[in-house]
Amino acid sequence: MEIQCTDKELFLFKKIANAAGELNLPCYLIGGFVRDKLLGRNTKDADIVCVGDGIALAHKVADRFQPRPHVAFYKNFGTASIKIDAFEVEFVGARKESYRYHSRNPEVQPGTLEDDQLRRDFTINALAVSLNKEDYGRLLDPFNGLQDMANKIIRTPLDPAQTFSDDPLRMLRAIRFAAQLGFSIEETTLSGIRNNVERIRIISQERITDEFNKILMSRKPSVGFDLLYQTGLMHIIFPQMVDLAGAEYIDGRGHKDNFYHTLQVIDNICPNTQNLWLRWAALLHDIGKPATKKFEQGHGWTFHGHEVVGGRMVPRIFSKFKLSQGEPLRYVKKLVELHLRPISLTKENITDSAIRRLLFDAGEDIEDLMTLCEADITSKNRMKVKRYLENFELVRKRLQEVEEKDRIRNWQPPITGEMIMQVFNLPPCKLVGEIKNAIKDAILDGDIENNYEAAYQLMVKKAAEFNLQPAE
Ligand code: ATP
Repeated sequence: MEIQCTDKELFLFKKIANAAGELNLPCYLIGGFVRDKLLGRNTKDADIVCVGDGIALAHKVADRFQPRPHVAFYKNFGTASIKIDAFEVEFVGARKESYRYHSRNPEVQPGTLEDDQLRRDFTINALAVSLNKEDYGRLLDPFNGLQDMANKIIRTPLDPAQTFSDDPLRMLRAIRFAAQLGFSIEETTLSGIRNNVERIRIISQERITDEFNKILMSRKPSVGFDLLYQTGLMHIIFPQMVDLAGAEYIDGRGHKDNFYHTLQVIDNICPNTQNLWLRWAALLHDIGKPATKKFEQGHGWTFHGHEVVGGRMVPRIFSKFKLSQGEPLRYVKKLVELHLRPISLTKENITDSAIRRLLFDAGEDIEDLMTLCEADITSKNRMKVKRYLENFELVRKRLQEVEEKDRIRNWQPPITGEMIMQVFNLPPCKLVGEIKNAIKDAILDGDIENNYEAAYQLMVKKAAEFNLQPAE
């Protein structure tokens, strides 16, 4: 083998080779598995292409295992897959593709291995390894993919303009691979993307989001997001991000470019989290800035309330990207809304009550909020960065002390809205919220004890201000 495989993988490939030999089908390992092996990356699945019926080969391979694995196959696409110990193998018959303008789904005809390599998106994805008796293990590299890999270059095997127009998803894949692998996109390939950005409109949002999330989860997402911006793709798939770009000057006073600031915040947070949603929070933390930007005489540029406006934008962005509307949305919205609060706690003489309020509002997400705030420090002045980080360290300490004393993170006020409605025989209304908040605030501020009796007394007092008496 010209690639380094584990014993388990070699055992599996021998079985595939034998099954293919029996059916007299030339067959090859191809695509991401070969690429990732050569790059020393982890692999979790492998693609097999055979010159003939891929589904028949999958069945023949499955026959060789005890117990026989399930073969999932799609007759229309001529593909099949089996899973052996969590390792997924996909089988497909070698094919030629031709595209129609309005669809990324090609018309397919049986073809040779060379035809099949030609339909692959990038030279580094077209490498194949023979599983045939005559030249078992030999690497077949018709487009100098190895050379491109060594030079860290992403390049299409065919004319880039045609490649990207045929299947515009490839533009996002090129950028995603650049971000994941730390490669650059070769110049004519990059122009091919620039000239075809409008074609992205034929791609479904689900596929766009999938690639977008992969960029966000890569080691250095700024590489991918900057490429999306520079090529013009970002303008189409995420215009609100583009609104962050640029710096305006009045009377010689400018503000920072919030697009590049955001990219740096995402890069900063990456070493500290693999949580996709915390990375989304980093991406969206300043999204409300363009809508709140003002120049105030004698004061300079301000973005008052951008965290509130930003928080309100999150549900629309999630829905456009077809992201989960449940817990992840709540979490990202909350972090965007709260991302300035820890900064306000770095001032001197901060009371326990301010700390308790943040603990209550952030709850279980307080750690992630602090991680976001630390990533938000993007000053070029190292002394400043050091000082800000030390300030946050102190905030963390205070949060811990107050939490140990008062247990606020998971705390709920002793009197709920339900109870208030019952005691005063009220329907759900604004008044119930007001009484409930008054109790919560009084406890967090330390004005009353944190127990049921004190809360009940305050409830009765507060209700009396609205001429309410407990019902009989
Ligand atoms: P990853 O698993 O990280 O997404 P991959 O390259 O393995 O990367 P797959 O989607 O599994 O991606 O595709 C397997 C192979 O199929 C690729 O390596 C490539 O050769 C080919 N391929 C996938 N998508 C396309 C496409 N849109 N156009 C052309 N070839 C593609």
